[in-house]
Amino acid sequence: MLKRKIIKILVGTNNKGKLKEIKDLLPNNLEIYSPLDFKIKSPPENGKTFEENSLIKARYFSKKSKITSLSDDSGLEVDFLNGEPGIYSARWAGKKGDFKKAMNRVFKELDKKDKNWKQKKIKARFVCALTVYNSNKKLISSVGKIEGSISPIMKGKNGFGYDPIFIPKGKKITFGEMKASEKYKIDHRFKAFKKIKKLF
Ligand code: IMP
Repeated sequence: MLKRKIIKILVGTNNKGKLKEIKDLLPNNLEIYSPLDFKIKSPPENGKTFEENSLIKARYFSKKSKITSLSDDSGLEVDFLNGEPGIYSARWAGKKGDFKKAMNRVFKELDKKDKNWKQKKIKARFVCALTVYNSNKKLISSVGKIEGSISPIMKGKNGFGYDPIFIPKGKKITFGEMKASEKYKIDHRFKAFKKIKKLF
């Protein structure tokens, strides 16, 4: 176990939406850095699971910066698409990070499976794996999930990524329509963070 709490951390992501949300989860008295502060680019994500990819990123950013790093790997799993886009969630948006394109691809893949999918409940979940790494070792990792379904149309301008097509279970609106403060209290990242927050 750590003898003292972490006071300085590199949040290992170049995704602005995630960086903002993770910063909001971390305590105010922590010195928070991003890969841009160290001019570090993201490593190739060649793991087979969210956990593996979050470890690859946390290890890479910690080794490059020589400070503790917290990395997230996350994505959307659609049951009817056998879990896709899953770990390929960012890649479905292409090099330019066009999430309208990624969400349209979800619709297109669902159309291919069943033309009437819009009349059905298409179960999906967001998954987030977090890993904290320092001094050549993994300190902790955790996974959080939020269940929900796919909205047949994109709704809302809040959040990032696939938020406009994800309706969390028990709610009638998409993450894209929710205020950040409401989303942050229930989502996959918050759930994963709850399990590691003792470190900070
Ligand atoms: P990666 O973890 O950098 O490989 O990227 C994961 C991708 O999953 C992000 O670029 C988003 O598109 C998507 N994603 C992860 N978490 C969320 C979320 O909270 N809302 C919307 N999309 C998300």
